[in-house]
Amino acid sequence: MPTPRYVIVGGGIVGASVAYHLSERTDDPITVYERTDLASETTSKSTAMIGIGGPDPHSRLKHYGFRLYNEFFAEPAASPRYRQAGRLRVATSPSGATTLERLAADESEQAVACESVRSSPGIFGDGLMEYIPGDEVRKSLLIPPLNTDIVDGALYRPRYGYIQGDSRTLGPRDLAFEFIERAKENGVTFETNTTVTDIRTNGDRVTGVTTDETDTVDADEVVCAAGPWNAQLAETVGLDLPVEHVLSPVFALELDRPFPYTLPAIKSHESSVGLHRKRDDVVLVTYTPGENDGATRYDPETVGDTAPDAVRRTALEWAERLVPQLHDAELVDEWVGVGTSTPDGNPIVGWTPLEGLSVAVTMSGIQLAPAVGSIVARQLVAGDPTEFYDDVSISRFDGYTDATNC
Ligand SMILES: Cc1cc2nc3c(=O)[nH]c(=O)nc-3n(C[C@H](O)[C@H](O)[C@H](O)COP(=O)(O)OP(=O)(O)OC[C@H]3O[C@@H](n4cnc5c(N)ncnc54)[C@H](O)[C@@H]3O)c2cc1C
Repeated sequence: MPTPRYVIVGGGIVGASVAYHLSERTDDPITVYERTDLASETTSKSTAMIGIGGPDPHSRLKHYGFRLYNEFFAEPAASPRYRQAGRLRVATSPSGATTLERLAADESEQAVACESVRSSPGIFGDGLMEYIPGDEVRKSLLIPPLNTDIVDGALYRPRYGYIQGDSRTLGPRDLAFEFIERAKENGVTFETNTTVTDIRTNGDRVTGVTTDETDTVDADEVVCAAGPWNAQLAETVGLDLPVEHVLSPVFALELDRPFPYTLPAIKSHESSVGLHRKRDDVVLVTYTPGENDGATRYDPETVGDTAPDAVRRTALEWAERLVPQLHDAELVDEWVGVGTSTPDGNPIVGWTPLEGLSVAVTMSGIQLAPAVGSIVARQLVAGDPTEFYDDVSISRFDGYTDATNC
């Protein structure tokens, strides 16, 4: 194996995208080290919604991803299937409805205020999101199983859908393989079942990594793309990443009477419990306790395979409130992922204070992985901070710089 110039730690969708984007720009050797199997951790546990909308810079970052996924899906290397279904965030209290209405207004205002989006109409605004008052929901949306009696207002985003697969993991994992297969074609080496145990340094410069398989590996550039493990990896070289985590359990419910129509993804504003139709007869219930009121920092190793009882109870109770037909559904599967959050809700991507060390930390990684990979590759190969630098650089946080002093 050639000595890699670029080492990527983590073979989830983000590491795969970084590898693909680097390999499109350079012929220098690139190696991805993955502790387990490729795309088998957070990526495979994701419910994989993809849709345009959200505040700046998420929408701009997503636009890059949509362009790339359109290219990928036109000539797929794997077999992800995208279903457009729409997304409905519902408020079940008057104050929640007011918040959603304000959110819709703020996003439209942002479109008017933001120079870079004025030149690219359609990033925000008409047709992408609509606030619907509670008494209008029943009259203007055809969602038969939704208990509209409890809805005080809703935010509807029509251009949302999800990646679907046959088994619980196939959808998002297949999407990651769109990057992996192309990266392999370009010559990237993927070393699985290999854990990076240490990032090696010489003074203020990274010189490589140590793995449990190969001992030491020299590299000019190391990219941390280890999902929820990024924090502990960065800590080994004294970098305290400003990230926190939320538990993200998923409960699969099998219906006794299948839904014979497409359902939008439905999410409760007050509880953060969401519903997502996986098949005619299976609904996935998601719940991120802590999303609304503070995250923490999890050691992903300590997160079990099943959710705490109280979390499961809350998730299923809310799901049934939103869609009463779920009362008779059977819980057939359950898993727990870890979500990542940052103080301003934006990813942390690119150069760090330590020369030769970059990070690829993101929430909504199914949607943002393309842009994250592109930013890292443009920085490392072309020295280009990119138009996203101010929004995603670690140096935007007090007390942090990056080695380039951009
Ligand atoms: C339940 C749930 C629902 C979600 N829904 C959505 C959604 O609808 N839309 C969306 O866009 N996003 C969603 N997300 C978020 C999205 O799935 C993640 O942001 C994305 O998968 C993160 O990818 P990643 O590559 O950063 O992390 P991971 O997929 O976790 O990959 C990191 C990899 O690094 C490896 N690793 C860690 N440490 C080491 C080491 N020391 N050495 C070698 N390898 C190492 C791990 O084994 C792992 O495979 C959801 C997440 C969850 C959990």
